[in-house]
Amino acid sequence: MSSLLIIEDDELLRDGLAAQLLQVGHKVTAAADGEAAQSLLESQRFDGVVLDLGLPKISGMEMLHWIRQRLPALPVLILTARDGVDDRVQGLNAGADDYLTKPFNMAELQARLGAMLRRARLPAFGGTLEVASNATRRLRVDATLPQAWLGDEALELTQREWALLSLLVTHAGRVVSREEVLETWQSEPGDGAGMASNALEVYIHRLRRKLVDSGLNIRNVRGLGYLLETNAA
Ligand code: CA
Repeated sequence: MSSLLIIEDDELLRDGLAAQLLQVGHKVTAAADGEAAQSLLESQRFDGVVLDLGLPKISGMEMLHWIRQRLPALPVLILTARDGVDDRVQGLNAGADDYLTKPFNMAELQARLGAMLRRARLPAFGGTLEVASNATRRLRVDATLPQAWLGDEALELTQREWALLSLLVTHAGRVVSREEVLETWQSEPGDGAGMASNALEVYIHRLRRKLVDSGLNIRNVRGLGYLLETNAA
């Protein structure tokens, strides 16, 4: 379940969107204008935003700039008018993650939102994630770049190893299924698609080797997936 913010001034469309996204299991909050959206974004955490570009008072494009300044990692899907090619280009250049033109198909919106949220992988607070352990060196993972550190030492990770580690760190303490890992890899640029699931074991082994001395362990939970846990002292 993701927590989504819909920013749309058209009441019918807003309510329709909210109802549909609720139905597929998201937590949905709606705002009719930029001011309401800003106070919500300042007080609550969201995993993604659906932003209409044609808004009163604060325009959708201004909203997008505002979001990008404060919440650089928050995924944003923009809704634009059918003939608004400039809007789409401008929106993507301004940091929108995806767009849909009105009128759109609800199934397509759900598919695009799902893909956008998977790509984002990490909760939308951006910055660096840190995992405490009983070792003196903490594991830190950059939420947007393929970089991670053990203490002050940078870990040498491939894009795919980083994606796997980020996923485990984000879900530290709960099991991540093989399917979740493969899905994350498939949304990565490059050769993620078509990854054989037995290759996953190889990556898990490599990560374990790199996490030696971190006080962290990747446990294989038979039949379920993988769990990042702190070693017992
Ligand atoms: Ca509008």
